[in-house]
Amino acid sequence: MKFIDTHSHLYSSEFDSDRILIIKEAISNGVSTILLPNISSKYTKGMLKICNEFPKNCFPMMGLHPCDVNKDNIDHELFHVEQELAKGKYIAVGEIGLDLYWDKTKLEIQKKAFIHQIEIAKKYKLPIAIHVRDSFAEAVEIIEKLNDENLRGVFHCFTGSVEDAQRVINLGGFYLGVGGVLTFKNSGLDKTIAAIELQYLVLETDAPYLTPTPFRGTRNESKYIVNIAEKLAEVHQIEIEDVAKITTINAKKLFGL
Ligand SMILES: [Zn+2]
Repeated sequence: MKFIDTHSHLYSSEFDSDRILIIKEAISNGVSTILLPNISSKYTKGMLKICNEFPKNCFPMMGLHPCDVNKDNIDHELFHVEQELAKGKYIAVGEIGLDLYWDKTKLEIQKKAFIHQIEIAKKYKLPIAIHVRDSFAEAVEIIEKLNDENLRGVFHCFTGSVEDAQRVINLGGFYLGVGGVLTFKNSGLDKTIAAIELQYLVLETDAPYLTPTPFRGTRNESKYIVNIAEKLAEVHQIEIEDVAKITTINAKKLFGL
């Protein structure tokens, strides 16, 4: 079985002591492709180093995360995103979006960065990896306005309702990223995901965060994608082999792999 982890922060300092081992373990567990979303210019070098060391397995994205946008850095950071994307070695623009969980006063500046990066993605015909937290309605509304035949992407770590999922599917070319939250006992996400066809789902860990059951409380790793796939198979009452097959096809299609 082969899996694609569509969202993993392998360059995070949490992996400084054993990064190579972690990647090799993921690959030997069938997670042969790992996609790395960026956060800000601070992480670009570390992210590219990993992708250069594992050119057949690890692929970088370029983008400015909403939690890292502020009025002092926005111009410089967006310039960095544009400059890097012009080099043509990135598979997506991400992760980008809106996050109102920590600070609601940053909505306008986050919107500015989000819209700008969607426009760049359209220019380069690249998919977008979207981060939303307490801001699904605001984010999906922006995408609905800017949507066209060049725009496609994934709502990473989707935790919304069936109605939210339907709104994403209606965009056309958009997928829902399913991660560790699906395995959490009281998340209720299993009921939502059960109602959504597998053809709209891709797998992700968001490592080192959101570790699936039974490893909660420890660092998340890309190899745990298998545990998320097991849960997805249970929820949809199908074989894990089919989950691997379908979600891999979806991710390949979305990211042009
Ligand atoms: Zn992330």
